[in-house]
Amino acid sequence: MEEKILTIRMPASDHFSIRKEVIGSRKFADSKRVAIIAGIHGDEFEGLYTCYLLHQQLQNLIEKNEQVLTGQVDFYPSVNSLGLGSLNRAWPFFNVDLNRQFPGTNEGHVPLQAAHALLQDLQGADLVVDIHASNRFVLELPQIRMQEHYAPRLLPLAKRSNVDLVWLHGSSTILETTLATNLNEMNIPTLVVEMGIGQRLTIGYSEQLLKGLLHLLRDLGILQIPEEQLPVLGYPRIMKDEEVWYLNAKASGLFVPEQAIFGRFVQEKEKIGRIVDPLSGKDLQIIEAPCAGLVFTLRQHPVVYEGSLLGRLATQPTDSVGGDADA
Ligand SMILES: [Zn+2]
Repeated sequence: MEEKILTIRMPASDHFSIRKEVIGSRKFADSKRVAIIAGIHGDEFEGLYTCYLLHQQLQNLIEKNEQVLTGQVDFYPSVNSLGLGSLNRAWPFFNVDLNRQFPGTNEGHVPLQAAHALLQDLQGADLVVDIHASNRFVLELPQIRMQEHYAPRLLPLAKRSNVDLVWLHGSSTILETTLATNLNEMNIPTLVVEMGIGQRLTIGYSEQLLKGLLHLLRDLGILQIPEEQLPVLGYPRIMKDEEVWYLNAKASGLFVPEQAIFGRFVQEKEKIGRIVDPLSGKDLQIIEAPCAGLVFTLRQHPVVYEGSLLGRLATQPTDSVGGDADA
C-alpha cells in the first residue's frame, strides 16, 4: 500500500510527494515494524535497488504463503526524489544535505519539513536501516558505521546484516543532525549502511545486503521462515577508528590504482597505486600500504589534488582486538 508522508506545493501549482510503501501489518500486539530508507542523497542508488530486491522477495514469499509475514515492512526508497530526478546529492534549489537537517521542523524550508515528516513517520519503528552509497569519488565495500556509544544495541543487529565491515566511530565524530543520530537518540535502533559509489549502481552489494535484511526480518519475528532456508550470512570485520588507515594524495595529478586491488588484503609495502603527471610523464607518488590490511575504500575518480582521499585500509585484527568487539 502506497502512502505519502509529505506533499508540498511546487512553484507552478503542481505537487510533489515523498512516498513510502507498506507491506504487511502489525497484526498482533507484539508485531514488529522495520523501515528501509534509501535515497536521502539523490545520487546514491544501491539503497533504491535494495528496496526493489527486498520488496520483490517479500511479495514472492507472500504469494507462496500468506502467513509468512507477521509484521510490517515500510519502504522509503527515494526520500530525496527531487535530487534523484536531477542527479543531485543535495536537495535541489536549497542545495542542502538532507542528512544534516534532522530533526527538521514542520514550518521551515522544504528540506527541513521533509526531515521532520520522515522522523515523525518513523516513530514506533523497531528497526530502521538507512542505506547510503559513498560519494561519487570513492568506492566502498558494504559496511555499517555506528557511534561506539550505540554499539551495545546496534552491534548485534549489524552482525546479522551480511556486510563486510562494521566501523565503530569514537564520540568525536558524532553528527547530531543526521537521521540515524536522531533516531538512535530516541531509542529507535538505526543502522547506517554505506556501500558502492555515488552516481553508479553496484548491483552485487544490494544483493549482499538483501540476504542480511532477510535475516534481520526473521530475527525480529516479522518473517516466519526457518533460518536454514535463508542464505548463509557472512561475518563482518568489526573495527574502531584506530584500526583504519587513510591513504591521502601527496601530489596533484591522476590517480592510477593497481589492478584488482579493491577489496583485497594487501601486505605492508604492497603497491596500491600511483599518482602520475601527464605533462612530464613522471610518477609523482607511489602509494604503498603502510601496513597489512584490507583495501575497503578505493578512489575511482582519477583526478586528485594534494590531500584527496585515495583509499582506506582496515588493519588486520590483532589478538587484543579480535574480530568480535562486543562492548
Ligand atoms: Zn548518502
